[in-house]
Amino acid sequence: MKINLPNEVISIIDQLQESGYSAHVVGGCVRDSLLGRKPEDWDITTSAKPEEVKKLFQKTIDTGLQHGTVTILIDNKSYEVTTYRIDGKYLDNRRPESVEYTQDLIEDLKRRDFTINAMAYNNEDGLVDVFDGIKDLKEGIIKCVGNPIERFNEDALRMLRAIRFAAQLSFKIEQNTEIAIKKLSRNINNISAERILVELTKLLISNNPQLIKKLYELNLLENIIPEFLPCFETEQENPHHMYNVGDHTLKTLGYIEGDAILRWTMLFHDIGKPAKKTTDKKGIAHFYGHAEESSILAERILKRLKADNKTITTVKRLIIHHDYRYKVSSKTVRKAIFKVGEDIFPLLLKVQKADVMAQSEYMKEEKLLTIEKINEIYKKIIE
Ligand code: ATP
Ligand code: MG
Repeated sequence: MKINLPNEVISIIDQLQESGYSAHVVGGCVRDSLLGRKPEDWDITTSAKPEEVKKLFQKTIDTGLQHGTVTILIDNKSYEVTTYRIDGKYLDNRRPESVEYTQDLIEDLKRRDFTINAMAYNNEDGLVDVFDGIKDLKEGIIKCVGNPIERFNEDALRMLRAIRFAAQLSFKIEQNTEIAIKKLSRNINNISAERILVELTKLLISNNPQLIKKLYELNLLENIIPEFLPCFETEQENPHHMYNVGDHTLKTLGYIEGDAILRWTMLFHDIGKPAKKTTDKKGIAHFYGHAEESSILAERILKRLKADNKTITTVKRLIIHHDYRYKVSSKTVRKAIFKVGEDIFPLLLKVQKADVMAQSEYMKEEKLLTIEKINEIYKKIIE
């Protein structure tokens, strides 16, 4: 098994080895290279202690010295070099009490979350794969290194990471790993909003955002976004919909590009529906005022998750206007642009298109045609 390492990485590894240390690339970059994907960054793991790493390279930054991480800068690119580590006893389902350096690569691989993330590589040793990561990579399986109950008890964020990686890679989660998540789902409450937001956003902008359903099935959603649960129990008895609110929502995610703001908007655009449902004499369901209600809930949830202000305000504005009814004429579209705001108007058209695409066939063509015409008028106006 051969991985094409960038020259800078080869030179870092060489330099460490020439000084008598052992060094490998590790984790995400090994996984992505073996999958034929371009790694986002190259992480290096070494037997050298941080102080020793710093002595060997000209430009370094103390990134996370308490975790043994030094960043090396070469030509404006950065490479994280981390000393082999054994994590001490874990506290509060989230962090080790202490970390200890070791000279043993295998010990360092043991502390990593999933088998596919626990492989190391260098040109001399080739692939170091003691937990059958390559087998799971080929079979498309997310599986804990060691006992999943223990590993999720150590750090509850790993449960969310399991689903995030399944979504990014289109992998399945191994059965015992899944059972352990369901059992320990409540521990996710011990994890900070910031760390949850990172993983949730990666899941949402992945190719499989519908795996939000997995969060629901494994009881993580009720701990992270409990406001969403009633959506799966709210049927939409009207000609526009074939699905309950939750499943309709997940369907809309597949019709919009993988942009965080657009995906958050779709995720929350109907979250106010359960509270606003009424049924008329004919048995038809209505959801008057749900856009406003959804935007209030979206704001509350995104604030709790510590999303940035631009995301919160944009999502909120898009949701308030998501069911805006247009008449197609230059005059009415100008009015709509003014009301909605010029900056987000084109985004709103994308949101509306995704929403209609996920609805039943009833009047779908007509609605899509309207959106298209409005787009044309909009383009002429901004020219
Ligand atoms: P990405 O492409 O999203 O960066 P990645 O695998 O590089 O994916 P990181 O969060 O950057 O993920 O972590 C780098 C490596 O560190 C992982 O591959 C894994 O080996 C290890 N790791 C990260 N977070 C944890 C964790 N919570 N528990 C155990 N190991 C972890
Ligand atoms: Mg990474």
